[in-house]
Amino acid sequence: MCELLTFQNVSVAFHKNTVVHQVNFSLKPGESLGIVGESGSGKSTILKAAMGILENGGRVTEGQILFQGRNLCEMKEKELRTIRGAGISMIFQDAGASLSPIRTIGEQIHESMSAHQKISRQEAFQKAMGLFEKLHFQNGERVWNSYPFELSGGMNQRVGIVLAMLMEPPLLLADEPTSALDVAVQKQVVQEMKRLREEFGTAEILVTHDIGVVRAMADRILVLKEGRVVEYGAAEKVLTEPEASYTKELLAAVP
Ligand code: ADP
Ligand code: MG
Repeated sequence: MCELLTFQNVSVAFHKNTVVHQVNFSLKPGESLGIVGESGSGKSTILKAAMGILENGGRVTEGQILFQGRNLCEMKEKELRTIRGAGISMIFQDAGASLSPIRTIGEQIHESMSAHQKISRQEAFQKAMGLFEKLHFQNGERVWNSYPFELSGGMNQRVGIVLAMLMEPPLLLADEPTSALDVAVQKQVVQEMKRLREEFGTAEILVTHDIGVVRAMADRILVLKEGRVVEYGAAEKVLTEPEASYTKELLAAVP
């Protein structure tokens, strides 16, 4: 099967400061990649580069990023915007913060979904209710009718996750999606990501500082240290016979 996303020798710099060095990996439909590394190692930067949303003078200085065989770095903003909606969705580290404060959750969900497909409010509602329930919302209908300020931070985080998942994109990027959630909900999020892979053939990248989290979901693991790949391979191999001493350290820290 054809690669969906490929990083070929990709380096990223903010102004003159290179923070990601010559990264290579690729992902086919339905595959999951876990990117693991400590804070500041470049994980979010890699995801943002894949979305074409590097801010503050950040740019790809070397190599190329191919999405469905096409170089993202050469695309016009309009084309990138289409890909961001219909091709790639991202669950941000602070997913709740990307919600609009002045519209209800239901309005935002319906609007996002109808930007890329024809869907009635009722259909969007039904789909959202299914995911709300799986992500442990007590009263999905109340959430649908609420404004973000009426919900807790953790609830808004879960709404952000639901929103990204409802887009059913070919590629889902998740930036430490579960770090602020309690353990039961974390498990459910990982479970739902698995369901998307199985049901829709979604390819997924899950970024985390905790190698224990990727154990449950990744086909392949990439270990990042100070912007460089120190290990990349099949999850089972990386978890049971790591080659890099840094990976061994990370694994030793998992209870
Ligand atoms: P991680 O997600 O692994 O914690 P990041 O990708 O956020 O790491 O950051 C990697 C490096 O890039 C850090 O040194 C960080 O300071 C730098 N960096 C990230 N975003 C920016 C930015 N917008 N402007 C300047 N430097 C940045
Ligand atoms: Mg980050």
